[in-house]
Amino acid sequence: MLVITCPVCGVEGEEADFHCGGEAHITRPATENPEGISDEAQRDYIYMRKNPKGVHFERWRCDRGCGKWFHACRDTVSMEILGYYGITQKPPATLLKKADPLWQAHFEAQLKKAKS
Ligand SMILES: [Zn+2]
Repeated sequence: MLVITCPVCGVEGEEADFHCGGEAHITRPATENPEGISDEAQRDYIYMRKNPKGVHFERWRCDRGCGKWFHACRDTVSMEILGYYGITQKPPATLLKKADPLWQAHFEAQLKKAKS
């Protein structure tokens, strides 16, 4: 059983008391480049998701409490929640260190895009 504690209002509940919004930190291509979206970029946005065995970053909504969205870092093997952080925040370095290198590459690519 997955037990989640809302980091906003403190309500604790089972998985069914919350709504999983899927993988976190997905950027809609039209947000960055509305004029030049390639078919591949749109396909990746809609269908391609990471599915790591281990640490994963997800979006969750507190359905029976405050109704706010938040990020959770969860181990997909043990189902343990390793930490929470705000919906507009990147994962804390302590959580990112535990994740698969593909997540580090993901955030480095986002930083590169932001700088260019
Ligand atoms: Zn809440």
